[in-house]
Amino acid sequence: MSLQSVCMYSDVYLVCLTHALSTEREEVMGLLIGEVDSSKVLHISSVVLLCRSDKQADRVEISPEQQMDASIKAEQLSKELNRPMRVVGWYHSHPHITVWPSHVDVRTQFNYQQMDAGFVGIIFSVFNEDKVTKQNRIEVTCFQSQDFNSQVEVPLEVVPSTSISVPCLDALITIPYILLQEEGEAYDRVTNEDQDLLTRIHNAAVYTKSVSHVLEAITVPLTHNLETRLRNNKMDIQRLQREKEALTQRLMELQQKNASRSQSHEDLINLMD
Ligand SMILES: [Zn+2]
Repeated sequence: MSLQSVCMYSDVYLVCLTHALSTEREEVMGLLIGEVDSSKVLHISSVVLLCRSDKQADRVEISPEQQMDASIKAEQLSKELNRPMRVVGWYHSHPHITVWPSHVDVRTQFNYQQMDAGFVGIIFSVFNEDKVTKQNRIEVTCFQSQDFNSQVEVPLEVVPSTSISVPCLDALITIPYILLQEEGEAYDRVTNEDQDLLTRIHNAAVYTKSVSHVLEAITVPLTHNLETRLRNNKMDIQRLQREKEALTQRLMELQQKNASRSQSHEDLINLMD
């Protein structure tokens, strides 16, 4: 099955991009959830962020457990939305490198397509400086593999969504947890009881620095953002409440007016009889 195009809702785009921008040193990845319509357009409406166990450059492997978790999420979403949702693709970031898929990416993508021909890969290239304007540039590409060595680009459209959906909000707040889990696992891998004191202090210091970075770059801004949203939502509720009261008042007035009018109409008919 060849796809016509891919539509990604802007709240999904926001989550993927925030995830991609969360770390400059390593690639991040996740799975995309959505559905294909009858015109072969893929609609991506949610996302599952993945924890990377193997932190080598350009090694983005998804474990069977992670695939299973994502499938369960897709099933939950199907029930909530009453539409068939499934895992339809994967995304990963390319910090400081071009947006184009590497040989490994093309091969990985080809393997996924063996299981599901409509599967897509999306890459976010971040922390790249534009040579002319010297500004930070973000690029996104959506692709499918033709064989083990070549790929084709699939047109990607970011569709505006009126608000951030609950599944996307849930995914957004998992970002700090996932980053901290990765840092914790990396620390556990290099630490053991037999190490000398200096090495242990060094590892602990590197770990502390990484955790502080997650707090500073992700947790604090995210909390501020959510607090602002909460404040705005409370103000919206108050405004709507006032609007509701005013409308109810107006409705009552109109009903009264209507009642007295039909009364005088009745009186008139009685008089004529
Ligand atoms: Zn890659």
